[in-house]
Amino acid sequence: MSATSTTSQKIALITGGSRGIGRDTVLRLAQRGIGVILTYNTNREEAEKVCALAQAAGVDALALPLDVAKSDTFGAFAAQVREALQTMKADRFDYLVNNAGTSSTATLSNGTATELDLQFAVHFKAPFLLTQTLLPLINDGGRIVNISSGLARFAMNGRAIYGPMKAAVEALTRYMALELGPRRIAVNVVAPGAIATDFSGGVVRDNPEVNKAVAGHTALGRAGLPGDVGPVIAALLSDDLGWVNAQRIEVAGGMLI
Ligand code: NAP
Repeated sequence: MSATSTTSQKIALITGGSRGIGRDTVLRLAQRGIGVILTYNTNREEAEKVCALAQAAGVDALALPLDVAKSDTFGAFAAQVREALQTMKADRFDYLVNNAGTSSTATLSNGTATELDLQFAVHFKAPFLLTQTLLPLINDGGRIVNISSGLARFAMNGRAIYGPMKAAVEALTRYMALELGPRRIAVNVVAPGAIATDFSGGVVRDNPEVNKAVAGHTALGRAGLPGDVGPVIAALLSDDLGWVNAQRIEVAGGMLI
């Protein structure tokens, strides 16, 4: 469907914008004058704080609840997005960042069907079906960034479900780019290395041994921070990188190279 918004303010929708990489992305985009709709799963309070910071940067910002594991709610979510856009005097938005995610420490030996289903729902089915559902609300010439992981390229114990699911979203990115090219929508995938956030119980940030091990595996000699990743996502949504399409960009300081 062809689509162009009525407002001059560009608008981004970031899933999982209440914490970590998504939060940093929201704030980087706000600093660039881009309005934001961010989603949270359980953490409304943090989401509202992020909105307040984005608004203080001078842009429209709004938080909506969304559990990306529940694809049967995506239609109702799209209706909420439409209403949110109206409050921003827009019909459509420009940039979608499929960021929301949860970790899994399953191995080949102990991984269960339940865990496979959940990781599939969050890391592949959600980017696929949420993007499909929201496409009529995205302006032609817009941009999509999916979030993968270094673990799609290298293997580590305890990531036998999570890593392959992230590999799947990398392949999906190329198919999205192919199909959305006629609408001038570029689609790329950012693969962070180990980043010090709440992810996986905050292990990279809070466990000194893990943090040190990550630093040892990383050419630039430290674990990543949300502020290492958010600016890259924001840059991929800028006009400067408008001709970058269907690419995987690892943002890992040179981890396990
Ligand atoms: P985080 O700090 O744990 O934040 C996760 C975010 O996703 C939160 O906003 C959370 O919402 C939301 N979320 C979690 N489960 C959700 C669900 N079922 N439905 C909707 N939203 C949900 O994680 P992060 O480190 O920023 O990770 C962000 C993305 O980067 C994920 O896709 C992750 O796989 C990927 N990644 C992370 C790392 C890393 O080392 N941190 C490395 C590579 C890739 P609430 O606040 O409401 O819970």
